[in-house]
Amino acid sequence: MTQLFDLTGRVAIVTGGNGGIGFGMARGLAEAGCSVAIAGRNPAKNREAVAKLEAMEVPAIGLEVDVTREAACQGLIDATLKRFGRLDILVNNAGTNIRKQPQAYSIDEWRLLIDTNLTSAFMCCQAAYPAMVKAGGGKIINIGSMTSIFGAPFAAPYGATKGGIVQLTKALATAWAADNIQVNAVLPGWIDTDLTKQARKDVAGLHERVLARTPAGRWGLPDDFSGVAVFLASRAADFVTGAEIPVDGGYSVQA
Ligand code: NDP
Repeated sequence: MTQLFDLTGRVAIVTGGNGGIGFGMARGLAEAGCSVAIAGRNPAKNREAVAKLEAMEVPAIGLEVDVTREAACQGLIDATLKRFGRLDILVNNAGTNIRKQPQAYSIDEWRLLIDTNLTSAFMCCQAAYPAMVKAGGGKIINIGSMTSIFGAPFAAPYGATKGGIVQLTKALATAWAADNIQVNAVLPGWIDTDLTKQARKDVAGLHERVLARTPAGRWGLPDDFSGVAVFLASRAADFVTGAEIPVDGGYSVQA
């Protein structure tokens, strides 16, 4: 039974893996025996995350990467292959948000969100594809949001990226099934991270509204994502592809 989820000898990349949800996923993958490459812009945060993973006695590497740059996405794959010799799992988690009414965004803000949350995932998938084919298959996990499903007045571009992530997931799942590459999306509910600490400051009453609507009665934690990452990265999910899995304490099924 345990072997179903064993990732010993596997290699994963987690973009935005130096904190928040990404680190929760990286920690789960490491616990299952996976070697992990952490990709983020902030080298100090990368170092801290790598030290925590190494303390779990798994090989880990931190790579200073801005996923909005195509060459950096290719460089991320190349550096991972150079260090570990293979690539089995790609978690496209890096993301950001700017909250305001739709009429107030500049086109540069729109483009920053599209590039960071959506185009980055496409570029990393494209760059990872040859290595996964070479490995005989692979697992891609894309991070959506409740705004993949619902509209939010303060998140027009962000919601567009997260809706796009789900459709990208479905398209890649159909295109690459023949290569034994499974592509799935995880849709987090409201999770306590740096991103939402800022949201709680920007959006009045948000904290209380989230608690009232979430059947589990709490905000999610980064570690709530360890298990779903292991499942989707493992042999246990070999026949799961193109799915969007809410990890939200029941937020999306609350009437
Ligand atoms: P955090 O702000 O804690 O983490 C975001 C991560 O993305 C950081 O590690 C950051 O690292 C990285 N990142 C941002 N921009 C770039 C970039 N251009 N290149 C490389 N890395 C980048 O937020 P969360 O953990 O909350 O968010 C993770 C994902 O989960 C995002 O996609 C977010 O949209 C999604 N999500 C979060 C929810 C929540 O409630 N928290 C709800 C739904 C979805 P660095 O700064 O070092 O680059």
